[in-house]
Amino acid sequence: MSWKHKYQIADLPPHQMVGLVCKTCNLSQPKTVAELVALTDPQYYMNEVENALVCRTWNCKGKLRMELSHDIIVEGFQGGLT
Ligand SMILES: [Zn+2]
Repeated sequence: MSWKHKYQIADLPPHQMVGLVCKTCNLSQPKTVAELVALTDPQYYMNEVENALVCRTWNCKGKLRMELSHDIIVEGFQGGLT
């Protein structure tokens, strides 16, 4: 199971940056966890958040792929997994 099914938005620190890349136009549109909570719901798992959001580019509305940078995984998730 991927981290996207394991973590709810509320599990991540609000200031954490999450990378969102459009699968259609490739536009990168990073958001903070706080912004994602405002757009969706704190109870959402990350895969649900990913599915709920679409590209903000007018006329694109492509699906987004969510990514966390390496240091986020090391810092934020190692403690949670042990
Ligand atoms: Zn797009």
